[in-house]
Amino acid sequence: MPLHLHNSLTRRLEPFEPLDPHRVTVYACGPTVYNHVHIGNWSLSLVSDVFVRWLRESGYTVVYVQNITDVEDKIIRDAQAAGEDRATFTKHWADKYLKGMDALGNTAQVDHFPRATDYVHGMVAMIQTLLDSGHAYYADDGSIYFRIASFPTYGELANLDRSMLKAGASGRIKDDEYDKEAVGDFALWKGYVETDGEVYWSPTFTIDGKGLLVKGRPGWHIECSVMSTALLGPSIDVHLGGEDLLFPHHQNEIAQSEAALGKRPFVKYWLHHKHLLVNGAKMSKSKGNFFTLQDLFDRYGKKVAPAFRLLITSGHYRKSLDFTFGGLEAAQKTLHNLGEARERFAKAAGGEEPSDFGAEATAAFTAAMDDDLNSSEALAAVHKLVSEANRLNQDGALAPGQAAAAVALLDKADRVFGLMLSAGTRELTPAQQATVDARAKARSDKDWAEADRLRDVLAAEGILVKDSKDGQAISFA
Ligand SMILES: [Zn+2]
Repeated sequence: MPLHLHNSLTRRLEPFEPLDPHRVTVYACGPTVYNHVHIGNWSLSLVSDVFVRWLRESGYTVVYVQNITDVEDKIIRDAQAAGEDRATFTKHWADKYLKGMDALGNTAQVDHFPRATDYVHGMVAMIQTLLDSGHAYYADDGSIYFRIASFPTYGELANLDRSMLKAGASGRIKDDEYDKEAVGDFALWKGYVETDGEVYWSPTFTIDGKGLLVKGRPGWHIECSVMSTALLGPSIDVHLGGEDLLFPHHQNEIAQSEAALGKRPFVKYWLHHKHLLVNGAKMSKSKGNFFTLQDLFDRYGKKVAPAFRLLITSGHYRKSLDFTFGGLEAAQKTLHNLGEARERFAKAAGGEEPSDFGAEATAAFTAAMDDDLNSSEALAAVHKLVSEANRLNQDGALAPGQAAAAVALLDKADRVFGLMLSAGTRELTPAQQATVDARAKARSDKDWAEADRLRDVLAAEGILVKDSKDGQAISFA
């Protein structure tokens, strides 16, 4: 069975047939950069990462965009509270986010990280198109709204009750975030208010044939429509996001894009990821179960990253996974065992070609991933083959070709899930490479104290440095 995905738009499992089989386009809503990103958001980022890895492993050429929202209600509120301007404030949090992406091994798959404020010109243009076609209007509060009554399929993705839609259609909502009860015309361009401080643009819109300067800022939803269109075109294959984004954010993206661009569907397959639970409950600061990636690193060091990946991958993206520290520690142990097994099998293989010993397990792995990314079943196929190979090895009966087959499947799982099982598949992040280079320089400058300090910095991230007369040799703990 070829790849099938559960499409939130049709609420069905559908065969994956990209619009252009030679160029699959994928967009994932990225973070709003105003604070630490919590592990629930990171789990979504991992699901998108594994999805794109799987497409590439399956032979597709993929263009994958993940945006960074750097202008939005919460950003303005918190930048002011921090006494910083928007640009400085969001750069700080975006940098932190990108470092987390590096640490998790998520950066390499992403082709573009657009920032919303670089696309305001395109947002103004799309809003103008919506004004011209009657899908948008300028209201007496100085903002421009999308007229949901002008878009007959509004509510399709969110499966909204049409009668509720009618009741709400007369209302307007300016906030970026709201729930289904507040359904109404939503803000495309938010007229300036004093609390926006220094955050505004001053475009001129043509409204009823007249030019009007409307000082203000874009609404959150238009940002994704414009960044997606600018980088991937008017129709894309797959859009991913957390289940909380389905309404209103994704519903509004559809309305804006399809109304402005006249292309339907804006997105062929919508994938929504269930929320991560922590200790059996929804994450919240008041419950004390709210954790960031940094919290995990503080407790276990950065080398915990692949175990976090394994833990998230061990569940299905459409089912709530319960994160616990016990679960994370178990994943660390499993990963350690898989790494050791790989080393053992690689030695036993002795350069031999893989036999068909792993054929059944590899087929099961592929079938599971093709079945709406059933990563837990795919991992079960890997564990099964590893156990069989271990059993044979203990009896001294593991043939080199069998060992090579086990290594091949482990390496496949490694590429797809990013488990960093062997030094060969694990790469230094740009920041880590810079530290390695700085240490080489410190050594050539005979600054031994600095070289020792940098060795410790690398060790804390699970990177071991050995010195020889030929320079530094890197290995992974
Ligand atoms: Zn978005």
